[in-house]
Amino acid sequence: MNMNPKLMNNIRQVTPYTPGEQKSEAIIKLNTNENPYPPSPMVAEVLKELKIGDFRLYPDPDSKELKKTLADYHQMDQGQVFVGVGSDEVLALCFLTFFNSRHPILFPDITYSFYRVWANLYNIPYQLQTLDKDFRLIKYDYYKANGGIIFPNPNAPTGIVEDLDFVEDILKENPNVVVIVDEAYIDYVGESEGTGTSAVDLIPKYNNLVVVRTFSKSRCLAGVRVGYALANSQLIKYLEDVKNSFNSYTMNLVSQKVAVASILDNDYFEKKIEKIISTREWFVKELNLLGFETTDSKGNFVFTKHKECSASFLFERLKDQGIYIRHWNDERIKDYLRITIGTKPEMDTLLEVLKGLINTA
Ligand code: PMP
Repeated sequence: MNMNPKLMNNIRQVTPYTPGEQKSEAIIKLNTNENPYPPSPMVAEVLKELKIGDFRLYPDPDSKELKKTLADYHQMDQGQVFVGVGSDEVLALCFLTFFNSRHPILFPDITYSFYRVWANLYNIPYQLQTLDKDFRLIKYDYYKANGGIIFPNPNAPTGIVEDLDFVEDILKENPNVVVIVDEAYIDYVGESEGTGTSAVDLIPKYNNLVVVRTFSKSRCLAGVRVGYALANSQLIKYLEDVKNSFNSYTMNLVSQKVAVASILDNDYFEKKIEKIISTREWFVKELNLLGFETTDSKGNFVFTKHKECSASFLFERLKDQGIYIRHWNDERIKDYLRITIGTKPEMDTLLEVLKGLINTA
């Protein structure tokens, strides 16, 4: 249909984020960093207890039980917790609340591509900071005038983690803007390193820090869409005010209950993390034997390129066989593939198929 140009002038047109494909024909789905394991059995129990009549009323707009459970888990006050429909919604509301300056916000050139989409959606000026040749963030790039900072730690899709001193230096240099650390993958950093890497411990010290987490990866709950932010209670209040100016009932009843059950089963959570980490460490070694070069990923995925076979060739041929991984045509990372860590048998099958492809290429 031909649209009247004057009408078009009044319509917001944006380029949306493109998520990985959710294809039912995928035999092995390793393209969106979901968890290959089901959620805790306690989640199934909660679902059994739900009654149809529960759906008649609006859910608790403050998600009090979920916030209290998360606050206890992180040893914080309830007022320091904000919850949303996946960390995507939490991050979108953080952009709207905290990035409100005429100076550009700063984030890496290679990172979660939704940051650019939100900045464009809200007309927030932004400046990309180029990662170094080894895909590391350069902290001095974040020491200039800016309207806010956001980066994932570990970064995506590289999986590379920066240590806590790095994060603290950025916070110290930027007391007048909000710094958001997106910890979607922090649980996979591993026991010894992980405990010392999360920025959550810095929240009492820095009132400009917001840490964002998700239930989609390490809690096996991508389908229920739960994410959260932790910060001092003042920042959380501003976030709540924006959320309540947008939609009071973002969190549905089922998601709230399911998320609580997941937090309470810590044993299950830790066991599933261990499994993914050990599969990742084994898989990286196997990839390297096949002639791949792989970044030191601390996420539930690897970022890898083959010395001879092009990434687009491998990506397309794998797809033909029902194995879905992720590839971007972006100039700097077009040689790389991002592969989610699945079960050991899934990764075994993938390795077999890759071997065949490499030998025939
Ligand atoms: N941050 C990063 C770095 C991610 O990779 C993702 C997953 N695509 C998200 C946030 C959003 O995850 P969710 O909305 O499922 O919580």
